[in-house]
Amino acid sequence: MKRYENYSLLAHNTFGMDVRAALFVEYDTVDELRAFVLSADFARYDRHLHIGSGSNLLFGGDYRGIVMHSALRDLEVVAEDDNHLWVRVGSGYVWDDFVGHCVAQGWAGVENLSAIPGEVGASAVQNIGAYGVEVRDVIDRVEAMALDGTLRTFTNEECRYGYRDSVFKAEMRGQYIITHVTYRLDRVPTYRLDYGDLRVRVEADGEPTLQAVRNAVTAIRDSKLPDPKVLGNAGSFFTNPVIPRTQYEALKAEYPTMPSYPIDDTRVKVPAGWLIDSAGWKGRALGRAAVHDRQALVLVNLGGATGREVMTLAERICEDVYNKYGIRITPEVNFID
Ligand SMILES: Cc1cc2nc3c(=O)[nH]c(=O)nc-3n(C[C@H](O)[C@H](O)[C@H](O)COP(=O)(O)OP(=O)(O)OC[C@H]3O[C@@H](n4cnc5c(N)ncnc54)[C@H](O)[C@@H]3O)c2cc1C
Repeated sequence: MKRYENYSLLAHNTFGMDVRAALFVEYDTVDELRAFVLSADFARYDRHLHIGSGSNLLFGGDYRGIVMHSALRDLEVVAEDDNHLWVRVGSGYVWDDFVGHCVAQGWAGVENLSAIPGEVGASAVQNIGAYGVEVRDVIDRVEAMALDGTLRTFTNEECRYGYRDSVFKAEMRGQYIITHVTYRLDRVPTYRLDYGDLRVRVEADGEPTLQAVRNAVTAIRDSKLPDPKVLGNAGSFFTNPVIPRTQYEALKAEYPTMPSYPIDDTRVKVPAGWLIDSAGWKGRALGRAAVHDRQALVLVNLGGATGREVMTLAERICEDVYNKYGIRITPEVNFID
């Protein structure tokens, strides 16, 4: 196990915040993790945070507690039948490497989730999603350790997945450390291409293949999203709000171009990016934090911004959107104060 005190988290968050953790540990085995959470070292601190690659985190300042990271990177096919494979993966495995591996093996189900930053553990916390697919569609079970060292396996249902949400983000926040996720993948692909111009791109070269989907998704994302290595960011800063259909219809009469996606008979989802853009925030900066000039949903660190500056910008945007449309938008990014 690696153990460092007063450790810089600069390389561990995509917003590029130069903050420090009082203690940083990285474990290589489940037994090491258990020994650590039961140790006097762990008990010495009253705050702890488990991170993946920090691509959905915003640190407000130094973290005066323990930051833990998983180096569990095993991958094993644990069961298979004529149609499916069950693949158990360590929480520290880089998500996109896992997707790349699945595509290379011909295992279908995660190709639309190509090029999402982060690690396997967080995929199950965040219920990551893109291009019409959410990871909950393929998660079979999640293994996690409680802070008393006991292991528990959560079924997909017990994870209580919602839009970018799970039990690990809500009522059990901070209580479990995910060690492994088992995904159920398909031997025969069902291509999901009805999102944006994905179909046109994939079918440009003929019949779809898993690799063609992966290439198209990666290319679209590269052209749309700022690279965190160049401009610090955490992807979509806000979730898309879900509002009553009656409210939407009243707004639509006033703002005819307002887009929406139906959720059910009574609710619709409105793209937060559209709300932010039409409230006049696209490309605007407040100090060293800004709204990206091509993607209004993405807040960026222009260089040297603090987490507080980014949060102040986020609060101003929320306020303006609420004043204009009566819709509350909320951050997807986890703010760590
Ligand atoms: C450029 C860019 C594009 C993005 N695009 C998308 C997208 O298309 N779709 C999407 O859904 N997301 C997207 N994101 C957000 C991000 O990639 C996901 O939220 C990802 O799952 C975060 O993974 P991570 O390993 O970096 O987790 P972190 O950001 O480090 O952590 C996220 C949360 O998970 C918890 N956590 C992490 N590991 C564990 C563990 N082992 N046990 C318990 N809790 C844990 C953390 O405490 C935190 O609450 C994007 C981000 C960026 C920077």
